[in-house]
Amino acid sequence: MKSEVKRHDLIHKTLHTYFGYTSFYPLQEDIIHEVIKQNDVFVLMPTGAGKSLCYQLPSLLFDGLTVVISPLIALMKDQVDGLIADGIPAAFINSSLSYSEIDRRKQSLSSHEIKILYMAPERLMMPEFLQFLRGLKVSLFAIDESHCISEWGHDFRPEYRQLKILREIFPKVPVMALTATATPTVQRDIISQLRLPDCKIFTASFNRKNLCYLIKQKENPYHQIVQYLKERKNDSGIIYCQSRKSVEELAERLRSDGYRALPYHAGLSTEVRTGNQERFIRDDAEIIVATIAFGMGIDKPNVRYVIHYDLPKSIEGYYQETGRAGRDGLKSDCILFFSYGDKFKIEHFILQKTDENERQAALKQLREIINYCEGNVCRRRLLLAYFGEVFDESNCGHCDVCLEPKERFDGTIAAQKILSCIYRTGERFGMNYIIDVLTGSKNQKIAQNHHDTIKTYGAGKEYPKSQWQSFIRELIRSGYVQLDGDQYPVLRLNNKSRDVLLHNEQVSLTKPEEPILIRKDKRDEEYDRTLFDCLRTLRKTIADQEEMPPYVIFHDTSLKEMSIYYPQSLQDFRKISGVGEQKLQKYGEIFLKEIGDYCKQYHIQPKPISRKDPEPRLKPSKTLTTQATLGFYRQGLAIGEIAQNRGLTITTIVSHLERLILEGEDISIDRFVVPERQLHIRHVLEDQGAEFLSPVKEKLGEGYSYEEIRLVRAKMNKVMPR
Ligand code: ADP
Ligand code: ZN
Repeated sequence: MKSEVKRHDLIHKTLHTYFGYTSFYPLQEDIIHEVIKQNDVFVLMPTGAGKSLCYQLPSLLFDGLTVVISPLIALMKDQVDGLIADGIPAAFINSSLSYSEIDRRKQSLSSHEIKILYMAPERLMMPEFLQFLRGLKVSLFAIDESHCISEWGHDFRPEYRQLKILREIFPKVPVMALTATATPTVQRDIISQLRLPDCKIFTASFNRKNLCYLIKQKENPYHQIVQYLKERKNDSGIIYCQSRKSVEELAERLRSDGYRALPYHAGLSTEVRTGNQERFIRDDAEIIVATIAFGMGIDKPNVRYVIHYDLPKSIEGYYQETGRAGRDGLKSDCILFFSYGDKFKIEHFILQKTDENERQAALKQLREIINYCEGNVCRRRLLLAYFGEVFDESNCGHCDVCLEPKERFDGTIAAQKILSCIYRTGERFGMNYIIDVLTGSKNQKIAQNHHDTIKTYGAGKEYPKSQWQSFIRELIRSGYVQLDGDQYPVLRLNNKSRDVLLHNEQVSLTKPEEPILIRKDKRDEEYDRTLFDCLRTLRKTIADQEEMPPYVIFHDTSLKEMSIYYPQSLQDFRKISGVGEQKLQKYGEIFLKEIGDYCKQYHIQPKPISRKDPEPRLKPSKTLTTQATLGFYRQGLAIGEIAQNRGLTITTIVSHLERLILEGEDISIDRFVVPERQLHIRHVLEDQGAEFLSPVKEKLGEGYSYEEIRLVRAKMNKVMPR
C-alpha cells in the first residue's frame, strides 16, 4: 500500500519536473502504472491522446534502456530533440548517421548515458545489433504504429514482421504496442504476432473533443477557402486534394495570393517532399497542400485546420486525415467540401476496377462517406458510430449540424416548380439544365428545344442557382425525384413526385441559408493575440538558432497560457503548462523579458497565478483580460481595432469596457459614441428603463447598435445615485 502511494507521487513528480504538466490525460496514468509493474500492454488511442508519454515517463523510472520502435526515420530526430529539450537523455540510431557517429552512440548506450533509444525495425533486428542490445539492460520495448505489423491493417510494413521474434530473444522484457488505428481484427493480430497473450488492453475513446467537424457544399471552393484563411494567416493547416494535379494548382494559386503554401505528393522527388514537409513543420510555410501521401507520423502539434478540398474515399481515411489537426488539444477545424460531382468522379474511377471484391468494397466505403456528408445527423455521432462507439449527447457543440441546426420550411411551391419543370421538359435532362430553365437562362440549347416557351421557364428567379441545386439534391435524398444514369444522370419523376404535383402533398425543405460562407469563429478564447504573436515570433527566432521545429521550444498551448496569465517571475513561469525544469532554465528569462516589456508597453498589471484548480486550463482571469483591453483603450484605439488586436469580438470588448466603467475606471466613451447620440440614447433609457435593452433599441431605431446603448447605460449607472 505504502509503495503504491510512493509510486503515485513519483509518477506525478516526474510528470511535472520533466514535462511540465500538472495532470494526466485519460488512461495515461493507468497505463504507466501497468508498464512500471513490467506487464505487457496494448494501447489503442487516437492521435493527440498522448501515447508517447506512456513510455517516455516510465523510461525515466527504469534502470535500463527503453527502446522505441518507430517506422519513420525522417521523424526520429524531431522526437529526440523534443525529449532532449525536456532534459531527457534520448538518442536515435538510423541510416542518416555516419558509422563513427553510430559507434559513438553505441558507446553512450554502453555507459548508460541514454534512457530512450529510437530505432526502425529493420536495423534493430540485425543480428549484430541484437547481439549488442543483449549486452545492455533493456527495460522496455515500445512499438509505435504497431498496426504496421498486420497485413489486415492499411499500413502493412514487411519489416515490422520481424518483430515477432523479440519475445523469444528477450523473454523477460515487457513489450508495449501502441497504435491510433486498429479494427478488432488488426488488434487481435498485433497481440498474437507480438506474442502478448496476457497483455493488458487500453482503448481510449475516439472522440476528439477539440476538433470541429464542418461540411460545406462545394460551390466555389477556392473562394470559400480564402474566405476562411483570411482570418488565420498565421495558423498552420493541411489541405487535402484528390489528385497531384489539383495539389499543384491549388498550392500555386494560394501562393500567388500571398499564402505560404507548399505542395506534397508522391510524384515529387524525395528531396522536394522532405524539404516541404520540413518547412511546414518549422513554421516556415503555414499551408501544405497534399494528396493523402502526406501525414503518417507527422507530429506537428499545432495544425489548426485540415481541409478536404475533395471528397475523401472512405470514413476511415477521413478520420485519420482530420486526426492530424489539433494534436496539442487546442480547438481546430476539419472542413470537408462536399459535391456530387466528386462522388461521380470517384464512382467512375471505382467502376473501372477489375477485381469484383475490391470494387464492392470501394463502393461500400463511398456510400458510407456520402451518407456521412448528406445526413442531417451530428457528424461526431456518425464518425464514432463508425468505430463502434456510442455518442449519446444530443448536441456535440462542435459540428456543423449541432452548431447551425437547419430550419425547415414549407417548400411545396419550390418543389412543384422543380417537378413541373422536369415534367414539361420530358424527363430527359440533368440538374443544371432544369435549373437553367427555372431561372430563365438565355442558354442556346434551351431556345433550340423551345423550352423558353414553357410555363416554368423563368419561374424560379426568387432563388439563386445554388439554392435550386440544394433543393433538388434534397428532393433526391428524400425520394421525390429520381436520378437515373451514371455518366450523365437525368432527373425523373416517380409516384411520390406525382403526389406533390397532382395532389398538392406538402413538402418540407431545409430553409435557405443566409449567404454566409464559413462563419467566423464564435468561440471566444480570451487570450491576448498580440502577445501571443510576439511570443510566437520569439519562439521562431530561437527555434531557427537552435535548428529545431518551434514546437520543440514550446507548444502553442504554453504560449497561449502565457498570453492569458502574463507570468512575471520564474516561479510563475514554472506554472505554465509545458514548462518543466529544463525549459524553465533555458528559456525562462528570455520569455519573461518579452512578456514584461509587453506589459509595460500596454500598462497591464498582472496578478499572481493561482493554480489550485488545474482543470479549466485556458480560462483566463476576468481581471486580466479587461486589464488588457484597458491597455489598448489607453493607446487610443477604436473598439474595432482593440477587438482585432485581441482576437475577440466587438461585443466582448464592449463588455470589458462596461465592466471597467462600472468599476470606476476613468473611461470616456465620447470616442465611441458621439455626444449627441449619447444624449438621445440616455433619454430613451431614462424613458424606457435600462433593464431590458431590446425595447430601447426598438425605440431608437435601426441606426443605433446594442453596443452603443450598453456603453451609455454603463456610464449612466456610474453617475446615477444608488
Ligand atoms: P499521440 O502520440 O497519441 O498522437 P502525443 O504523444 O504526440 O499523442 O501527444 C499529443 C500532445 O499532447 C503533445 O503535444 C503532448 O506534448 C501533449 N501531452 C501529452 N500528455 C499530456 C499531459 N498529460 N498534459 C498536457 N499535455 C500532454
Ligand atoms: Zn455534432
